[in-house]
Formats: sequence, C-alpha cells, structure tokens
Amino acid sequence: MCHSDLHIWEGYFDLGGGRRTQAGASTLPLTLGHEIVGEVVAGGPEAAGSAIGDKRVVYPWIGCGDPACPECRRGEEHMWARRALGVFRHGGYSDYVLVPHPRYLVPRDGPPDALAATYACSGLTAYGALQKIGRLAPGDKLLIIGAGGVGMAGVRMAAAVTGVTPIVADIDPARRSAALANGAIAAIDPSGEGAAKDFIKTTGGVAAAIDFVGAEATAKFGSAVLRKSGKLVIVGLFGGALQMPIPFFPLRGISFMGSNVGSLAALKEVIALAQHGAVGPIPYATRPLAQAAQTLADLKEGKVVGRVVLTP
Ligand SMILES: [Zn+2]
Ligand SMILES: [Zn+2]
Repeated sequence: MCHSDLHIWEGYFDLGGGRRTQAGASTLPLTLGHEIVGEVVAGGPEAAGSAIGDKRVVYPWIGCGDPACPECRRGEEHMWARRALGVFRHGGYSDYVLVPHPRYLVPRDGPPDALAATYACSGLTAYGALQKIGRLAPGDKLLIIGAGGVGMAGVRMAAAVTGVTPIVADIDPARRSAALANGAIAAIDPSGEGAAKDFIKTTGGVAAAIDFVGAEATAKFGSAVLRKSGKLVIVGLFGGALQMPIPFFPLRGISFMGSNVGSLAALKEVIALAQHGAVGPIPYATRPLAQAAQTLADLKEGKVVGRVVLTP
C-alpha cells in the first residue's frame, strides 16, 4: 500500500489555495494497488514469454501501448501512464490482476514477495529521484525529507546511487529512529523554530535534497537548506503551493525538479541492486486484504512506519 493510494481513494491532489486536480480514474469502481507481486495463472494468446507459475513483480506504470507512441518509445511511458494499474486500471488489492503485456512482468530472485512488491513504486520512485541527483562528490551532503515508505527506500538506496550516506529530516521521532536504524547518518526534526538556519549552520547547506513529502513546509525547508548550485527534487504529492523569490534561482544557482516513479528499465535496475545486496530491505509488515480500509486510515494519520503489504 502506497501513500498515493490515499489520493486516488480521495480522488484528488491538493494544489493549494483550495484548488484540486483529479487523481486516478474517473470511472468507478476502481481496485487500488500498484505495488504488485504475483504468480502467472493464465496467459492470453499473445502473451508469449511468460509461463504459468512464474513469480513476477508487476511494472504498473503502463502507457498507451501504441508502438508508434513517442513517449513509450523514449522509455518514458511512466510519465503518460494511461493504463497504470491501480490508478486507471484495476490494481492489486485483489486475488487476480490483469496485466496487458508480459514485458511488464519483471523476474526477480531472492527478496520475499512482500518486499519485492515495494520495488514497483516506493523502490522505483526513490531510485528515480536519486538518479536525478546522480553521483555526488565526497563531502557533499544529501538530505532526504520524509522517512515514510518511499523516503525509507531512498535512505536505503542513497549510497549505492549517489555515493553519499543521507541525512534525514522528519517531524516524527519514530520515523527518525527508523531512518537511523536503516542507514541514515543523522536524523533531524525540521519543524522547530529556526530549524533550517541551524541546519545550514551545522552542515553548510546540502548539495541535494529530496522532498518525499511534497508539502509546503517540506519544500520550503528543502529549498532553504540548499547550498549554492544545490538541487531540490520533489517527489511527494502531499500538496500545496510554493512561493519563492525569483532572483534566488540565479543568485544561488539552484534548481528544482520533479520526479515521478520511474521507467521499466529503472525497475529492473532497482531489482538488480536489491539482489546484489547493494540495497538493504525497508521495514515492512503484512496485513490481510480485509484490512485495506483500516490501513488507508492509518496511512492518512501517519501511523505507518515503512510499508504495509496486503496479502490477498
Ligand atoms: Zn505508489
Ligand atoms: Zn504511449
């Protein structure tokens, strides 16, 4: 289960100032769930390359499927994922799910089913954001804001992708300790008076920050603590709007960018990293499918540490 499921469940993303944009399918009912692991039980006549009994991670960010489509050909179908499972098509909170092509079934060896499921969104999203930062220089600082399920995956993968062990900022003490237990070098509370100033004083500012929350307060904190030429990557969809003096962009040489999940090729890279032991497991717990609604409520209240995986 992903925090995005909440937005799709509610039907909108918050754009700030009372404005909203639609999240997910407009035709209901819709079965949620885009982090899916399963076993092939049947294949259509054109589903060559998959065999009954294959255990696979499902790549859910499925595009239009037109071989002439420029987005799909560039490997960016995830940015136009018109057939995304659990978003526009029925997803994985279910016993069965229909995947439109066997190329979206990714093999993996090793990690348990529940953990492997998380690679399809939280793992992939964290990896996609870290890739946008790329390799950092020794001594550079990396900040991860928000140590929920996706942020925790970011903590786990940061060193493998950027070469730098991250600092974590989270308002929740339980998540800060979980982040430290999962490889963060330090964990701070960004909510206090003067927290950004104190943080800059001790670190000199960060080369890059990833905002896994995407709220007004977190994006503001992330942009404030960048050093010159720093990069802020915004991933979370909590919502709101950001006000920023325009001269800060040229004067500080900073950049802001957004990152949304990742490509099919990137999912294969994430799974390869996990299999080679370059990325440790995030904390997760399993619950029966019948607890889906209760778990959405727990996610909304910020009561989940790591990931909850439903086991239909
Ligand atoms: Zn997700
Ligand atoms: Zn397409």
